[in-house]
Amino acid sequence: MKEKREYSMAIASALRRKTKKVPVLEQVHMDRAWAEIHLTNLDHNVKVLCDMLPNGCELMVVVKANAYGHGDVEVARYLNRIGVSSFAVATIEEGIRLRTYGIKGSILILGYTDPQRVPELIRYCLSQTVVDYKHAKQLNASDQQISVHIKIDTGMHRLGECCNNAVEIESIFQCHNLKVCGIYTHLCVADSTQEDDVAFTKEQLNHFYTLLEQLKQHQISLPKIHIQSSYGILNYPELQCSYVRIGIALYGVFSTPGNKTKIQPELRPVLSLKTRVVLIRQIAAGESVGYGRAFYASRNIRIAVLSIGYADGVPRSLSCVRGKVLIHGCRAPIIGRICMDQLMIDITDIHDVKRGDIATLIGEDGSEVITAEEVAAASETITNELLSRLGNRLEKVYL
Ligand SMILES: *Cc1c(COP(=O)(O)O)cnc(C)c1O
Repeated sequence: MKEKREYSMAIASALRRKTKKVPVLEQVHMDRAWAEIHLTNLDHNVKVLCDMLPNGCELMVVVKANAYGHGDVEVARYLNRIGVSSFAVATIEEGIRLRTYGIKGSILILGYTDPQRVPELIRYCLSQTVVDYKHAKQLNASDQQISVHIKIDTGMHRLGECCNNAVEIESIFQCHNLKVCGIYTHLCVADSTQEDDVAFTKEQLNHFYTLLEQLKQHQISLPKIHIQSSYGILNYPELQCSYVRIGIALYGVFSTPGNKTKIQPELRPVLSLKTRVVLIRQIAAGESVGYGRAFYASRNIRIAVLSIGYADGVPRSLSCVRGKVLIHGCRAPIIGRICMDQLMIDITDIHDVKRGDIATLIGEDGSEVITAEEVAAASETITNELLSRLGNRLEKVYL
């Protein structure tokens, strides 16, 4: 009997222990694969970008997709701390997450949200983008008021009510349950300085300004206005707006290498990507390495196995020498096919490499640098994709 009672007490206390357990900040080990997030560089970029803005224009920081792989909550918290109070995300889930972790200020959802979720928009104090006239009517059908920004399509043809439908757009302003806090459009070739692209962008701007003029003439007092994202501000810095929606530039990188933008601020990359050597081995001439035997040694070589792979966000298209990593300040080619959790590099000409040494996939080592732009270009994509696809198995270290 006594035994039984002791037993059930033990279970009860074990359960108590389990339910009491609160999530604590994960301890970082930096023993496998990690991203270093240089918050001081983020601070620098915010200052540089703010300095570029016309008077009365504010930064709306875009922290969608886990802040482009940098860690949404940590990045937003830091931005809150340095005085940023205007955020944008892609989805309602991302917005709720930020609020749950105590992020203050306005949070605009740039993507579509099902009108059924109006109660959550209210509960978490999120602003919703109105993606077209019909969406406005549906959002308005609830009996509670929400904050919205109206998206206008001026030529991108993704989200937004068509700029020619001034009557419909006006009637969105009359919706009682929609508190219209903003009106905005999105440019689709703002990154290009080619003549025809500049002409297209000017057309988009004209459409938008014409609409705003029409609204004003109909006694609608205009809410906050925003147009530019990163390349918008870098190529069209003169536009007068209430906000600029800055994503990639905030993280200190361009989308592609060698972009010739009108203004070239000195931005600093926020993220470095690192891993460790877990094994070194000799490969004799004629032997193969890795899946598919995609690599054959043409001489006797030494290779290192690194504990990072495509599940961590290293594009598999960097296989077979298309990608390089830095080790001991030297460039070493990735050989064979990148695996899910590991990859192999040729270290024949690099001395004294040993287990536990750090290898850098993005960032600096000695006097060598591999930029995110370089890695993205080598895998035929843009840094926006590369960074936002970094795996959540990576540890993050905030510096
Ligand atoms: C993602 C996004 C941005 C940010 O774009 P960047 O080029 O990363 O600065 C701005 N506006 C909208 C509507 C977006 O979807």
